[in-house]
Amino acid sequence: MPGGRAIEKTGRLPWSDQGRNRSYTQKVRISAVLPQSGHARGLPGSPDIVFPGRRKVVFVHGCFWHGHGCKRGDRMPQTNVAYWSVKIAGNRVRDVRVRRKLRAEGWSALTVWECQLKHPAALIARIKQFLEG
Ligand SMILES: [Zn+2]
Repeated sequence: MPGGRAIEKTGRLPWSDQGRNRSYTQKVRISAVLPQSGHARGLPGSPDIVFPGRRKVVFVHGCFWHGHGCKRGDRMPQTNVAYWSVKIAGNRVRDVRVRRKLRAEGWSALTVWECQLKHPAALIARIKQFLEG
């Protein structure tokens, strides 16, 4: 596989969690490798991982914030339900728009979920498959 091993030093995937939930990224320690990723500025939606050479990007979405259908994503806070529902619905609409924009600019995008970070090996396999496809 071309490219260096960008994450070997830290053993962590180089995504940001936008400060919303630090714990899950801290838990992720991955010794496997991804082909070298970089950051391309100005891309729609600020993808978490960018592979400029392949014109591919990966988003890591928080299950709650982006309305994943998993256990964690389905859980609603006890208060301000209306507020959160609107907020999450807004995020989802934006996600769709962002993907459309990326596609129009010739990028393909993969979305992975916060809950999948618990299974780093499977996640990396999935990302690699996406990169090779
Ligand atoms: Zn999830």
